[in-house]
Amino acid sequence: MKDLETRFVFVTGGVLSGLGKGVVAASIGKILQFRGYRVDAVKIDPYLNVDPGTLNPIEHGEVFVCEDIWEFEPAPGYRFRIAEIDQDFGTYERFLDMKMHPSNNITSGQVYLSVILKERVGEYLGKTIQVIPHITGEIKERIRRAAQRLSPDVLLVELGGTVGDIEIMPFLEALRQLILEIGKNRIALVHVTLVPLLEAVRQLKTKPTQHSVRALQSMGLQPDVIIGRGAVELPDDIREKISLFCNVPKHAVISDPDLETPYELPLVFEKQGLGDLICDLLNLPRRKPDVKLVSEWGSMVGRFKEAGEVVKIAMPGKYCMISDSYISILEALKAAAAKLGLKAEVELIETEEFEEDRRRLKILDEVDGIILTPGFGVRGVEGMIAVAEYAIKSGTPFLGICFGAQLLFVAYARSVLGLEKANSTEVDPETPHPVVRLLEEQKGIEVKGGTMKLGGRPVRLVRGSLLHQAYKADRIVERFRHRYHINPDYARLAEGRGLRISAYDELDGAICGIELEGSWIVGVQFHPEFRSRPNNPSPIFLEFMRNAYRKRELGKGC
Ligand code: GLN
Repeated sequence: MKDLETRFVFVTGGVLSGLGKGVVAASIGKILQFRGYRVDAVKIDPYLNVDPGTLNPIEHGEVFVCEDIWEFEPAPGYRFRIAEIDQDFGTYERFLDMKMHPSNNITSGQVYLSVILKERVGEYLGKTIQVIPHITGEIKERIRRAAQRLSPDVLLVELGGTVGDIEIMPFLEALRQLILEIGKNRIALVHVTLVPLLEAVRQLKTKPTQHSVRALQSMGLQPDVIIGRGAVELPDDIREKISLFCNVPKHAVISDPDLETPYELPLVFEKQGLGDLICDLLNLPRRKPDVKLVSEWGSMVGRFKEAGEVVKIAMPGKYCMISDSYISILEALKAAAAKLGLKAEVELIETEEFEEDRRRLKILDEVDGIILTPGFGVRGVEGMIAVAEYAIKSGTPFLGICFGAQLLFVAYARSVLGLEKANSTEVDPETPHPVVRLLEEQKGIEVKGGTMKLGGRPVRLVRGSLLHQAYKADRIVERFRHRYHINPDYARLAEGRGLRISAYDELDGAICGIELEGSWIVGVQFHPEFRSRPNNPSPIFLEFMRNAYRKRELGKGC
């Protein structure tokens, strides 16, 4: 396969996971965009799942949904739909303001599946199939194909996991081979490590970095840039030490300190000269960053940091043990608040808490708005329904997203229509009032991976509705990920009794928006959080935040 002119920046991680490699990769992309270079991003996940769609968010964070659906064809005669990808793609979309493609999320599962199925159909007749060269060959092929899709000037390739993990080895080996094939002058290797502060002696420690770089070197790889993640900026002597022990020039040891907002990282990198350094490493002309683009980004960062009055938002849900489960929703809330000169203070609440003791719902008296979150399965659902009932009674501004919208409808059917046993058939298959039920198109689908209603779809908004007011449009595109939906028979029954249907899926006519009259209580079957951007927040989050703020101001007057 002929290579294009694309350059590659590989981002690896050392010492431990959760260092924010995604934010580093996205920030490098941003500083290249500042220079007018076209970028795209690949994320490699070394786990064996084909895609993260079947994963509980508390394993690896939110499952991000793309606009596009990818028909993955691992070998002739085999097809899988993929639209659910790693949460880092949300970071890329927000930083780079691009729509990412699902084929850019390469997993070990996909790589092994392709090789094994190709063996079955006879593509390697006569050969012994091995990690080297077959698995590594497939990895290189996937990276090259990703580069050919948009032919960007620079393709960012983030390698998930930590150097030293067994499952990451084939990817590092593939990278070593790629460098040989493509040429070192077109690939930069950026290694992100932790530089911990040892409190007892008040010293920053470089040994973990040294060890992880040594692990890379033992695979035949020498990092070009070391990004030191730590609470504070790396002082000169520490950068010198890392430079000496890890065989990189001092100007290529870059600080990645704790920041108030991750969106500041491109500016922090820019100040340290990382933009020019990456251009040099990739043999790209050192272009000047576009002043207008940098200052726009800078003002957005300023708004995030300065944001003033606090608006308290509760986010009850099923996966609240880690905040990454809802990262796109959190970012959409922050962006909406920043745009309005406010600060969103968000509290994640496990709804099982409310099932143990309903009196705990009282903590919702303290908040200005409630987001009822997406989710699957039975655990914690009665608690979520109790939250929606609370909102209906109190009139607290409320946005239910996907499962949250479905459970708003269940709560409405129970508390307003008097259908006490109303439920979603996902939660209670025997319910006498299936107010939320399986989508027609989902009937008969037993297998799970990639089989939901997925991806971006056109949505018709009903004039005069709160949703129409928010979007100021008759037709929008939003992203979906679900199997069940609001039962139209019950929705029609509810209309005229305080509930309004506010949106329909243009393609299959399914109800995808409901709202209650007399308050700002809205449920949407789609996920507006995925299209929200830090400097262009989703209209529905903006409207929600406006109403939460209004409630707060009214409360003050009492
Ligand atoms: N479990 C619900 C369904 O499948 C909602 C899914 C979601 O919240 N993403 O329809």
